[in-house]
Parts: sequence; structure tokens; C-alpha cells
Amino acid sequence: MKQELMEKYAALAIGTGVNVQEGQVVQIHASVDQYPFVRLLVKEAYARGAKRVDVEWADQPVTRMAYENETLEVLSEVPQWRREKLQLMTEELPCRLYVLSEDPDGLAGIDQQKMMKARQANARVAKPYRDAIDNKHQWSIVAMPSPEWARKVFPDLSEEEAFEKLGDAILQSVRVTEENDPAQAWAAHNATFAAVCEKLNAYRFTAMRYRSANGTNLEVGLMPESRWQGGGEYTLNGVYYNPNMPTEEVFTSPWAGKAEGTVVSTMPLSYNSQLIDGFSITFENGRAVSCQAEQGQALLEEMLAMDEGASMIGELALIPFDSPIANTGILFYETLFDENASCHIALGSGYENTMDGYETRSHEEAQAKGLNDSIIHVDFMIGAADLSIIGITEDGREIPVFIEGNWAPEFAQE
Ligand code: ZN
Ligand code: ZN
Repeated sequence: MKQELMEKYAALAIGTGVNVQEGQVVQIHASVDQYPFVRLLVKEAYARGAKRVDVEWADQPVTRMAYENETLEVLSEVPQWRREKLQLMTEELPCRLYVLSEDPDGLAGIDQQKMMKARQANARVAKPYRDAIDNKHQWSIVAMPSPEWARKVFPDLSEEEAFEKLGDAILQSVRVTEENDPAQAWAAHNATFAAVCEKLNAYRFTAMRYRSANGTNLEVGLMPESRWQGGGEYTLNGVYYNPNMPTEEVFTSPWAGKAEGTVVSTMPLSYNSQLIDGFSITFENGRAVSCQAEQGQALLEEMLAMDEGASMIGELALIPFDSPIANTGILFYETLFDENASCHIALGSGYENTMDGYETRSHEEAQAKGLNDSIIHVDFMIGAADLSIIGITEDGREIPVFIEGNWAPEFAQE
């Protein structure tokens, strides 16, 4: 990646992504091999007035060795110093930036049960702290190429070519080019999201109905408070930030407990470095009551049984079949990208801030209104060239939202 483009990208991530505020603490999570990019991020964060920048370094082979060598008991323990770090986070409300670059297969072959149980135990401890900072701080996820990831995406190219090509695809997806002003490009992108969401929200749909020849026939209820959103978001203090770079999705949180029918996946799901492929899930009263997978059946069943909310839907996301990321034709093996290439739904926790009036509501109140809660949030792809999605209004009108995989004319944007 050219130095000049990397600098532009770093400025975009710190400015438009997490939007560092004067005097704020900044937390950056990255792999050790990303240090050149991290240095640019740190420099940019201080230039924008960051009070302190903490970098949390990780190394996937080291993580792997921990899973291989430590007992489940040790892996599940959350030492006091980590709890205190989490506590400090709830007091300082840092902005948090994640730089993804890991090998999608880097944890393959590790004892799945052990890894899932350890993650479950850690997630349980972290959840109250995470809930406490929800909507109060800016966060963002960006990506950088690594040789291992590039090899997985472009197995037929030389290591050098694959690395270059993945870097180019990432920059293109986040709208960083030699000529443009990326911040301006994102402002235009966000304006497009706002226009679509305004139209969708005006209908106050009570349910969405999905149909495809592949067997998808699913109706999902929406809460009276469910609102569609996309692109940038505001913290409760009114700071605008972009949580996902790239993003192409318009999404909402449905009414947990109100889903009927079957949904068929259209892309493989990589979960804990293992593949679940060719699967369908059938819902009754909002809960997954059966699932069928050509590959990864046991893993899918375990995922759905992680906790009560893991078998219910927490997110509906709309992305046209003709999306810029889908049109690259690249399977990234990374949700940040692949979820932006296809309509998807998520099993597990919903997003409180997609609900009207979330600012003054507690987590418990949001859940009482029908927001799903879980320690997992796993997106899987359901977009198809023939997918139709109909929005159903309170008075029973059926409004086409997606026709043949793309936005109905009413919602299509230039
Ligand atoms: Zn999504
Ligand atoms: Zn999601």
C-alpha cells in the first residue's frame, strides 16, 4: 500500500471513523504486524487532540498458542487487572478503533468446544461493562491487509500480488483514492443512507417478508420502535462517527420472538475459523426450532444454543445484490466486508440505538419491548439475485422494498 494512501486512510479512520474529540482517550486494537499503520493512526489521534493513546497489540499465533496450551479454566478466568481495565473504560469512554488483519484460518483446528466455552466465559464478564458504554463512546472497525489474509482471498496469486490486490480492494471499499477527499466521499455516502432510511421509516413497517426460490420464506416482525439506519451514528453526546468502514448496509433490530418460516443462507459462514455452509434455519415464535447444514451442522447447533437469545434474530440488514463490494466479486472471508455484499440477518443481540427513544431507555426496558439480547451477534448472508422483500404496514399494505435482489425503484438511490 502506497505511503500516501495509507496516510489518507489513517486520517479517515481517526477523523471520519472514530472522530476523536479534543481531550479524549483513544484505544487502538491491532495486530503487531500492522505497526506502520498504527503509528500513522496514533500520530493522527494526537494531532486531533487525543489526551492519551493506548495501543492494544495482539498476535494471532500467540492467541493460538494460548488456546492450545492453557486449560479451559485458565482461559475462562478474567483476572482482576482486566476487570479494572474494563471499569476504567466505562469511566473514560475512550474512542475505540479496531484494525482487522488476521488470517481467517488462523485459529482453525483448535478445539471448538474449548474455544467457545472460553469466549463465552469472557464475554459474560465483559458484557456489563460493554453495556455500560453502549452509545456513549465512538468506535470503528477498519481493515488492513496481511500476507496470510491475502493468501486466503487470492490463493492463485503470488504473495506479493495478493497482498497488493487485497490492499487495493480495501482502499476502494472505504473510498480512499489518490484523487479524492475521503471525508467528503463519506459525507456523500452518509447522505444517501439518510435519504433511504427516511423513506423506509416513514412507512413504520410492522413486519418484513422475505422470499426467494432457494427456499427462503420468512416473515420477521418489527417493534413499533424499530427504526432503519445506515452509515454514521451519533453518540448520546451528539458526536458523529462511522462504526464500520466499509459499510453499505441499511439495518434495524426486529422484534425478538416474532419470526416465522425458513431462511436459507447464500454464502458460507465462518464462525470461530470453522465453516458452516449450505444451511437453513426454521423459526417458530421467533425461535430457531430446527437447522440443516451441509457442512458444520454441530457447530451451527452449538451456536444457536449459546444462550437464550442466540436462537433469535437481532438484526435485519438490507444490501442490494448490486452493491460495490458484491461487484468486486471477492469473497473476503471477513464479516466486515462480506456482510456488506449481501442482505443478511444476525442471530443474537440487537442494537438498542435502532429503537426510537433509546436515549432514555435502560437495557432491561429495551429488552422488554422486544430487543433481542445475547452474548453472540453472528451475521449470515441471505441475499440472492431473486430475493424479494416486502414491508408490511400496520394497515396491511404490502410495499415492495427489494425486487429481484435490489432496491425497489422507490428506494433506489443514485
Ligand atoms: Zn449488519
Ligand atoms: Zn450484524
